[in-house]
Amino acid sequence: MAVKKFKKIMAANRGEIAIRIFRACTELGIKTVAIYSEEDKISLHRYKADEAYLIGKGKGPIDAYLSIDEIIDLARKKEVDAIHPGYGFLSENAEFAEACERAGIAFIGPTPEIQRRLGDKVSARHVAIEAGVPVVPGTADPVTTEEEALLFAKESGYPIIVKAAAGGGGRGMRVARNQKELLEGLKSAASEAKAAFGNPSVFLEKYLEKPKHIEVQILGDQHGNIFHFFERDCSIQRRHQKVIEIAPSLGLDEKTRHAICDSAMKIARAVDYINAGTVEFLLDQNGDFYFIETNPRIQVEHTVTEMVTARNLVQMQIQVAQGYKLTDPEIGIANQEDIELRGYAIQCRVTTEDPQNGFAPDFGTIKVYRTAAGFGVRLDAGQGYAGAQITPYYDSMLTKITAFGRSFPDAARTMDRALQEFRIRGVKTNIGFLENVITHPLFLEGKCDTSFIDNHPELFQ
Ligand code: ADP
Repeated sequence: MAVKKFKKIMAANRGEIAIRIFRACTELGIKTVAIYSEEDKISLHRYKADEAYLIGKGKGPIDAYLSIDEIIDLARKKEVDAIHPGYGFLSENAEFAEACERAGIAFIGPTPEIQRRLGDKVSARHVAIEAGVPVVPGTADPVTTEEEALLFAKESGYPIIVKAAAGGGGRGMRVARNQKELLEGLKSAASEAKAAFGNPSVFLEKYLEKPKHIEVQILGDQHGNIFHFFERDCSIQRRHQKVIEIAPSLGLDEKTRHAICDSAMKIARAVDYINAGTVEFLLDQNGDFYFIETNPRIQVEHTVTEMVTARNLVQMQIQVAQGYKLTDPEIGIANQEDIELRGYAIQCRVTTEDPQNGFAPDFGTIKVYRTAAGFGVRLDAGQGYAGAQITPYYDSMLTKITAFGRSFPDAARTMDRALQEFRIRGVKTNIGFLENVITHPLFLEGKCDTSFIDNHPELFQ
């Protein structure tokens, strides 16, 4: 397959990830196109592209970015060669990837077939099992009756987690510690999943107590080369949603690191993976790990992997979509051993939420916005400037701070300094909470598991 260079790329997304994509394009000499909803008229991503167009008039803030036909029509008219979907919105929608293909526009991501096999958690578990990768004990198929659920409970015992097959972002999940909670959880997870993903299908897994969340970044080209870029530790979560991510994981012995990365590669190879993706695992207290899901797209926390491997993942996504081999000089990865860890990186998700009020989202106008800078600090912001309007329409992530250091303590000190340097007035943020976490002894020892935030209410002060 010959390389087809892109001249113009559209980001079918908003906020920080749209800007991240534009930056990668500009560095590669590719023109950029933004789309924005009526609610996003003064959003920063609109002004960071070479061209920007209003989309989804009258459709509402979210549906605007989900208007497949309108987006593809516009891309055609503006002679866009490729569309990058970012994360969320249409990024895991196989129909959108197919519609791009039909319109002769490259979709920067895995093929619709890979998306279908890995995007659904039940189907992804089958891929993992066939590839010989351990999965959390669970039901082989979606659970459709209470009897099936009770039978699984009898075999595996409590606690159990009810999970939406189409789930994401911690939604459509319920932990059940007894029969009553299981039966309630089945119903509420299914209805939440139907509302959020249009698919009520749920399955059951044994709920592991206090695991670590370890995930592996993978990237494949269209010529059969697939590499991994080591792991991220995303155990610092609130309600099963990631808040702080670290690369590489602390306290993972070389043998386990190798085994987890190797398992991720087995899954990637089983589906001939193309473009960027993440394979997620839970690591239990005994040091055993289990596959939980794959995310066939770029993730919010890709920055930490970029910092520790000195590899530009979003640029490489674009390059492999153009047809380059990962081993071509333009990308320049000779082999797996060529991807090295050069230090530690920590990412904090700064949100416009009030930790002292149950993390309720806050809205309004940002009056003061002073950022951090200096050695080892990277910022990926969507809406960061004085005068920006924080609206209730979209998720509350304001900026991502990534700190890099040769050692983990170095990176943690840089993050602490960066958080102290930030001044945001006009809307409440979680910056004080993030400082409490990254200066906590358990964090500094790399001992946090997924229950850390919930079990330490003092962090909210
Ligand atoms: P989502 O797609 O919504 O992000 P995941 O399957 O990736 O859902 O799980 C998100 C988080 O939920 C995990 O990182 C972990 O904290 C928790 N979780 C999921 N499955 C289990 C399980 N079987 N046992 C314990 N915790 C789990």
